[in-house]
Amino acid sequence: MMDTKIMTIHGRDGVFSCEEEQALQEAGEVLRSGGLVAFPTETVYGLGGDALNPESSRKIYAAKGRPSDNPLIVHIARMEDMAAVVSRVPEAALRLGQAFWPGPLTMVLPKAERVPRETTGGLETVAVRMPSHPVARRLIACGGGYVAAPSANLSGRPSPTSARYVIEDMAGRIDVIIDGGDGDIGLESTIVDMTVDPPQILRPGYITQDMLSEVLGQVSLDGTILTADSGQAPRAPGMKYRHYAPRGELTIVSGQVAEVTAYINAHAAQDQAQGYKVGVIGTDEALAGYRADLICSLGSRQDEESIARHLYGILRRFDDEQVTRIYSECFDAMGLGQAIMNRLLKAAGHRLVELDSNREQ
Ligand code: AMP
Ligand code: MG
Repeated sequence: MMDTKIMTIHGRDGVFSCEEEQALQEAGEVLRSGGLVAFPTETVYGLGGDALNPESSRKIYAAKGRPSDNPLIVHIARMEDMAAVVSRVPEAALRLGQAFWPGPLTMVLPKAERVPRETTGGLETVAVRMPSHPVARRLIACGGGYVAAPSANLSGRPSPTSARYVIEDMAGRIDVIIDGGDGDIGLESTIVDMTVDPPQILRPGYITQDMLSEVLGQVSLDGTILTADSGQAPRAPGMKYRHYAPRGELTIVSGQVAEVTAYINAHAAQDQAQGYKVGVIGTDEALAGYRADLICSLGSRQDEESIARHLYGILRRFDDEQVTRIYSECFDAMGLGQAIMNRLLKAAGHRLVELDSNREQ
């Protein structure tokens, strides 16, 4: 166990107090000397190390308990720094960067020589993102400009959307945790593979397929995003690992509200009779109708951003309360709903009950 220093830095609107600026310099020094710093971003918390130092990347895998062939994302603070970590900047990548950086978009490009294979999980490509969170950007600048970071959770747990979850998973394992409040988005960045034509979405996120198509023209979608993994070889190495699944068995139920409520209540009662502790993941509109041990709302069904922001926190809560059976409402897999359903289906191991076959997913 090591001593983990907790720093609180909110830096709203990118303005830091003298103490906050000093703390950021100190955290940056930790990164430069090969240490690890967890930091807030607009998506989820990242677990950062110097992306150009292979020893730092090894430490990240060890701290997370994550297999070392699962590549890390290199975070930069300035658009012009992309050129230093990739072997060539395609024109389309520049256009995407101009449209969506800083922001929740990661591009996969051929890697530059100087990026160690420890950072890219042995690949010849590198994933690059420029986050918009002011604390993340200042830390990256103070830390040398290139910060490798996966999500700051232990392997197998949901990505942390709040510093208290980072502390739960990482205290004693890394040098510094920066508490910058709760993330705005709550789901990991959209990942686009720019090494194929047309570019392909490997992981959906806040930047949707439509938003990308507006800039790029055609954009394809990896076949495993919303379906159970077929025999198909995964394009993003991380996709081959079992994603976070809550300890309780999660089932997604789709259909009209009344049918879904009746189905969930009937199964919850049966499960309770067998000794299970039952949780429901619902929305404000339907919440009053459920009968279970723990009922949590993601927010209003009309507000996809709220649903995205609350999903991981609720999954953690069910684990904490040792819920053993979970039922969730289903969402339309369009726009931001594509990212929500991608994470929910993975958490459910694709266990989906469709009560109304006429209804579109
Ligand atoms: P995270 O899930 O937040 O740890 O983000 C890391 C994920 O980014 C990995 O699990 C991969 O799916 C993806 N990734 C990173 N680098 C690459 C790459 N070079 N090629 C494809 N996917 C990548
Ligand atoms: Mg992750």
